[in-house]
Amino acid sequence: MKNQEIQVKYHLKHKKGLLIGGILFSFFFMGLLLIKFSISFHLNGDMITNISYKDFYQEQGVILKIFGKDFSQQVKIRGEVENGKIGEYPIVYSYSLAFFPMKITRTVKVTDLDAPIIELKGELKQTICPNAVYEEEGYTAYDEYDGDLTDKVEIIEEGNTIKYKVTDSFFNTTIKEREVRKEDKLSPTITLVGGSTIYVKKDSDYKEYGYQAMDGCDGDITDKVEVEGEVDTSKLQTYKVIYRVVDSSGNKQEVERTVIVNEVKTSSPTTPGVIYLTFDDGPSGTGSTAKILDVLKKQQVRATFFVTGSGPDSLIKRAHEEGHVVALHTYTHNYGQVYSSVDAFFADLERIGERVKNITGQETFVTRFPGGSNNTISSKYSKGLMPTLREQVITRGYSYFDWNVDASDAYQCAKASVTDKKLCVYKNVTGGLSKTRSNVVLMHDIKSYTADALNDIIEYAKNAGYTFDVLTTTTNPVRFR
Ligand code: ZN
Repeated sequence: MKNQEIQVKYHLKHKKGLLIGGILFSFFFMGLLLIKFSISFHLNGDMITNISYKDFYQEQGVILKIFGKDFSQQVKIRGEVENGKIGEYPIVYSYSLAFFPMKITRTVKVTDLDAPIIELKGELKQTICPNAVYEEEGYTAYDEYDGDLTDKVEIIEEGNTIKYKVTDSFFNTTIKEREVRKEDKLSPTITLVGGSTIYVKKDSDYKEYGYQAMDGCDGDITDKVEVEGEVDTSKLQTYKVIYRVVDSSGNKQEVERTVIVNEVKTSSPTTPGVIYLTFDDGPSGTGSTAKILDVLKKQQVRATFFVTGSGPDSLIKRAHEEGHVVALHTYTHNYGQVYSSVDAFFADLERIGERVKNITGQETFVTRFPGGSNNTISSKYSKGLMPTLREQVITRGYSYFDWNVDASDAYQCAKASVTDKKLCVYKNVTGGLSKTRSNVVLMHDIKSYTADALNDIIEYAKNAGYTFDVLTTTTNPVRFR
């Protein structure tokens, strides 16, 4: 019994010791916790800090507070960032407080932060034909770090948008867009062969001169043109012929041709002793045409100028405004071109007609064939062309004039051996004039000596009792044929 009692007592004492130890330990532990919770240790900035390889790393520091007291300055910082060199650099922040070694690590990533640059060639917004496929006009992609990335560009089509996407080796992505709309809003054009006004001789056969319809998207749609309107050449009337066409997108075009059935009057009575001064191949910007206009103005004489595509518009304007007739001599005056075919001839003649109309505001139907109506040079380019042209010119409402007095200023007087060219021109003209008929005098206003001779020629003619006039479609023509 006694032994048992002792044993119990011992146990009791031992338990007491453990209890006290436990309590003391708890206090200690709670103390640690208290300290632990009173510590505030954190980074300024991010745990992972990305900076560009082009920038310098600037230390942002840490904040350490223990029981509200600032220990930030006592924190040890280790680690170094190699500026400009791609890589990951750890920065370690540490502080030791008895039982509490504290440590935070920041990772500084020196990397490429700049996205590549995409440049697109061509317009960023454009419209193409509905049936067309957009043809890439090109692009380039460049990254400051990676260099040329053009071949890495991905092209994504989404509806009307084409997206160009590229990603550099640091996963910086750039997307650029191009808008390509498919639509055709433009109307087709209709070109009328023979022009918008055609003169046809009464009782002649009228046949359609032809037309061409072109569309920006559909191309040649001439076969879709509908023609409406009849021309009856037995009546002296003005007719309208209408040409209509619709392209595949529903855009319409309509043009009108005026066909005038007329009687070409060739019956203005010939006045004996009248002189028609005519000047070919101009105007000339070198001064001769201007000088001729000055002389005509001074002498109060009107003349006819068969002009070409050369020279300044202002001289054509001046000639017209000063009462002269501006007539047509073809635009290019290039034999090989104008005499290559009937179509080529009229295309050229209509071109000079357009020029004159644009300058003077008037349509002209007085014409002269380069080289004259019986020239042989044309057969070099197209055999048997002249008879067709002579007939067609009349059928289309023009009147053509040759000459019966030749100044020979383009040939004989132009020869180097002729020392007094002015006198040569004067003699040829005055010697060719006749009182018993009308005189159509061929001269060239591109020749300075012709301009020099003109005043004397007019003085001579006036003294001899000649009169002057201009050529019109109703003038009784002088023709070789
Ligand atoms: Zn000529």
